[in-house]
Amino acid sequence: MESDSDIKTTSRGFHCVLCNVNLPNMPSLDQHVKGRKHQTLSTVRASRKTQEERSVFVSGIKPDISQTDIAEYFQKFGSVTDVIMDKDKGVYAIVQFSDTKSIEATLSFVEHQMKGLKLRVKPREKKEFKFIPKKKSDSQNLQRVLDHLKPELCQLMSVNAQMQLVVERFQLGENEKKARGLLVQLLQEVFVEFFPDSQILPFGSSVNTFGIHSCDLDLFLDLENTKVFQARAKSTSEQAGEGMSDDGCSEDSILSDIDLSTASPAQVLDLVAAILKRCVPGVHKVHVVSSARLPVVKFHHRELNLQGDITINNRLAVRNTRFLQLCSGMEDRLRPLVYTIRYWAKQKQLAGNPSGAGSLLNNYALTLLIIFFLQNCEPPVLPTVDQLKDMACEEEECVIEGWNCTFPSQPISVPPSKNTQDLCTLLSGFFSFYASFDFASSVISVREGRVLPITDFFSQKKEEEAMQEEQPTTTSHHSPKLGPLNLLDPFELSHNVAGNLNERSQRCFQRECREAEKYCRSLQYQRKSTKGKSWGLVRLFTPHGDVPQTKAEQLTISIPFKSASLPEVLRNQLYMAGDGFHLLWFQKVCAAVEGVLKSVLRCHLAPSTDAAFGEDSAVHAAEEMESASASLNTTMNDSRDSVESQNEASPLGTAGVGTKRRLSSCSDASMSPQGKKPRMARRGKPDFPHWICLQKHVVWAGRRKVRRELIKDTDSRPEGSCMELESQVTAHITEKEPELKEPLEFKVQPQIVSGTESTRAVLKLEPTSDKTGVFHDFFHFLEAFLPKMVETLLKSEIGNV
Ligand code: ATP
Ligand code: MG
Repeated sequence: MESDSDIKTTSRGFHCVLCNVNLPNMPSLDQHVKGRKHQTLSTVRASRKTQEERSVFVSGIKPDISQTDIAEYFQKFGSVTDVIMDKDKGVYAIVQFSDTKSIEATLSFVEHQMKGLKLRVKPREKKEFKFIPKKKSDSQNLQRVLDHLKPELCQLMSVNAQMQLVVERFQLGENEKKARGLLVQLLQEVFVEFFPDSQILPFGSSVNTFGIHSCDLDLFLDLENTKVFQARAKSTSEQAGEGMSDDGCSEDSILSDIDLSTASPAQVLDLVAAILKRCVPGVHKVHVVSSARLPVVKFHHRELNLQGDITINNRLAVRNTRFLQLCSGMEDRLRPLVYTIRYWAKQKQLAGNPSGAGSLLNNYALTLLIIFFLQNCEPPVLPTVDQLKDMACEEEECVIEGWNCTFPSQPISVPPSKNTQDLCTLLSGFFSFYASFDFASSVISVREGRVLPITDFFSQKKEEEAMQEEQPTTTSHHSPKLGPLNLLDPFELSHNVAGNLNERSQRCFQRECREAEKYCRSLQYQRKSTKGKSWGLVRLFTPHGDVPQTKAEQLTISIPFKSASLPEVLRNQLYMAGDGFHLLWFQKVCAAVEGVLKSVLRCHLAPSTDAAFGEDSAVHAAEEMESASASLNTTMNDSRDSVESQNEASPLGTAGVGTKRRLSSCSDASMSPQGKKPRMARRGKPDFPHWICLQKHVVWAGRRKVRRELIKDTDSRPEGSCMELESQVTAHITEKEPELKEPLEFKVQPQIVSGTESTRAVLKLEPTSDKTGVFHDFFHFLEAFLPKMVETLLKSEIGNV
């Protein structure tokens, strides 16, 4: 396959023209020629050549001609294997036959006519095959920057200096900004031709002061004035009783195709895409994504190697970009923190969704998390958005889509922060803050600079009333989509900017914060290595594999508090429970766990030595809830201590939701910086249940098969989604399978974790008698099965009790 002409002799050995590589000697040439790259390229070239020889180039077709029409027509000259149409459809096509004889027949035919069209048919042009290596991806480029940066970072004297260097290396250069500015200008000139009085406004990282090389160019096409223009032109022409006027609205203008006041965003964006394709030099790969939260036209600029997004109806984004600019202007420490944390998050694969969609944090959400942390430092580094609103003057008032977006236009209007902590301390403070943050039961409000209890959002009505109070100009704003991480937009208060996150992403974020927190306490973070080893940010940025779980964790099962999947009835009950909602939820979970073990898996539960938490104790628990909620922190911290490593004092001096809660609701002066209470506060703690379970059958083995047989493929209900079915599966196994020689006996101890990390119930499992050695199999089964089953039960009767 490989041809000798591919190999040229050079003064330094050999050069393979096909693969564009130099080889120093015969053995390496030999190896290369046999290697995968050379072999693949030779095969690709050979098959391209065959394709070229067997295809013809057809022009003179129209857009309404389909691939099938063409295939049908050319079929009479031989068997057609493929028809390739040009992307913009309808100008030309390449018809590929299965042999070369058909080509001769096609080309010798005098006049090709199809559907009344005269077709021009030519032999296909033969192009020299050339290997074009893929451009390095942005992440590879960034990795290269880091590789160069590492030795430089290690040379510096402090983490503060390292963070400043990160900004210098990653930030957009003056030339890059200029090039982006010129492209915006060009787009403005083009768009104004088609949409009179329109404006194109950049937003996002290109202008928010946090941009990095290769960040995308976010643009908002403001058509408000064009709409006014169009309406005016229409009424003038109607009055004059003629066609539209000449100035941009004449019959052949693009505006005559569309009525902007009634057109859908997708229709307008199609038009924007057409203009981009046809009229803006250097722009390619134009496509509309209408499924996005905000429909967008995406494009790429070839020479600038720049990805661009154009949206309409996105005035809020331009305003929140102004807000980020303001924050950056009033606080010098923000940029180094944002650049460092953005890069850390990218390295740990926590943020930066490719092409905007995905289940990771996006950079906007991550920046808001940093701002929220800075609002919660002691004393605060940044004011709340509400405080900023009060600092603005009358002319700065701004309401967009009913949301109050007022803040001062200049940083000078904001008094400087009294906080003097350095960058090194703030960075480690960020990690501690979120390492011990109860994401599951909190809603982060950058607007108010505090955590709002999630139960406030459980009662739709209440919440809407609150919104109405906050935003009297609004008519109806829906409630935010709750999820594992709830972060309200500072202006659009009904929007959770982290609503796309799944549990895994949230868990990874918190786990990495814990890892980073731990590292930040070490000397390697704070002090330059005298032996020239990596230190400070360098080690923080180093990606690592999954953190191995500790032995203690292996025997615990977590049942997360998933606000979004709770049924309405339970949400209302939790809402009514106020501060005691954690306990009420925990009680429901315990009842569900007991139900799964007893009724679904047919375990024999021996009476526990502690007071039970079942049905009878529910009333008692509810009564106790109020006093118990005060002591909850102790229980929570105790359980965390037992499950995971001990936490040390936060460098922040204030971190943790516990502290914020103290500001808002549960006032408690005896709390430690991390929301921990002294041990003596244990009095009043309600008894939690624990069970001794006895299992005589291998109810975990072969369940999938039994389930499939039972439902006979008529139903594809996933495991754990139906209590009745799962009970039947167990019954089936216990009837068919022999008993274990010795029953398995194990202890289950549920504990609630909350306040210092995401709310969840943790079940500690411990074998007390496992003579047949099956405990680990059963445990691994329960690990996945229990949380799913509990969720199902909470959705059904148990949650509604
Ligand atoms: P980068 O492009 O470098 O990832 P960015 O700051 O431009 O960072 P994008 O995700 O491109 O972030 O978002 C651009 C802008 O769009 C943000 O500055 C913000 O104004 C708006 N935006 C992005 N995501 C959201 C969101 N989830 N909710 C509200 N506005 C958002
Ligand atoms: Mg962007």
